[in-house]
Amino acid sequence: MTNRISNPLEKINCRFSIKDMSPIGAGPESVQGFMPASSGELSEAIAYCIKHCITAPIVIGRCTNILVSERIPSEQVFLNLCRMNKINVSGTSIAAQAGASLESVVEASLSFSEDLSRLSGIPGTIGGAAAGNAGADGIAIGDFIREVHALDYSGQTLILRQPELGYAYRSSLFKTRNDLVITEVILDLMPGDSAKAQIEREAALNRRRSRGIGLEPSLGSFFLNPGQSSAGKLLDDAGLRGFILGRAQVSTHHANIIINPGRLATSEEIAELASYCRKKVLELYNIDLKPEVNLYGLTI
Ligand SMILES: Cc1cc2nc3c(=O)[nH]c(=O)nc-3n(C[C@H](O)[C@H](O)[C@H](O)COP(=O)(O)OP(=O)(O)OC[C@H]3O[C@@H](n4cnc5c(N)ncnc54)[C@H](O)[C@@H]3O)c2cc1C
Repeated sequence: MTNRISNPLEKINCRFSIKDMSPIGAGPESVQGFMPASSGELSEAIAYCIKHCITAPIVIGRCTNILVSERIPSEQVFLNLCRMNKINVSGTSIAAQAGASLESVVEASLSFSEDLSRLSGIPGTIGGAAAGNAGADGIAIGDFIREVHALDYSGQTLILRQPELGYAYRSSLFKTRNDLVITEVILDLMPGDSAKAQIEREAALNRRRSRGIGLEPSLGSFFLNPGQSSAGKLLDDAGLRGFILGRAQVSTHHANIIINPGRLATSEEIAELASYCRKKVLELYNIDLKPEVNLYGLTI
């Protein structure tokens, strides 16, 4: 049994299941952490962490791009931002709290801009998307971000603008500064045609459906594309499509997607399969695939 943090912030201090939240259905079933509903409550949670020398809480949105070991130490604290989810549209700008879903931000944009339509169907929060520069079909969320508001683990508020956000392919400043909690994301969009935006959105959703993305428990693409190559093609050429190890499997739809049929595999088993795939591609093509998924307590 893990220790519950005892503190005066009972209303935002809770336990939750990473396994239940995660679309791949793996991870610890009960972790301790904070689920603040406002920036004020988040500041209180961070002040609590500072006071109690909790130096490295793990920030999470909807767990669609993280794999957490079931053996992560029970003292590990998580900051779950899903309740901070307000969205405000002003002209052609959108200010979204970090826990708002990317999907709801896309929906909020459709009446006045085509910019975000192609990001339709990417699960997770705008905070997670801004941290990993989520993207699809040649665009990424960082292309449209004017500024990001964040808190660091000393409790200081920061306003970060381009180019200091360091956006690149599935990468950003937040990949190296894991002491920053994104609280709000401000996007500037080009005005456009609403009907066209809806059509592009439907097309994007259809493309995802036809590729089988999201049909099975997964975390989306497991590996980053190395340079100009496609991780999916390399894994396919290596004969790994549909490959099964333990209770985890490489999707039969797309070789860069690892699935958890029946949600029975542990994170450790999923990581083992990923590690096998990585080694196979290294052996055959001398290319070392790097994970796109963020791993906690696991190495592959
Ligand atoms: C079926 C499926 C399809 C997908 N398709 C795509 C796709 O097409 N393109 C794509 O890019 N991704 C895709 N993904 C991956 C995932 O949806 C994105 O990476 C998403 O943006 C992650 O958001 P999240 O809220 O779930 O973040 P989480 O998984 O909870 O966290 C991801 C990382 O971001 C950090 N983070 C989260 N919130 C914050 C915050 N507020 N402040 C600081 N750091 C934070 C976390 O610490 C962690 O390192 C897919 C995933 C699935 C399951």
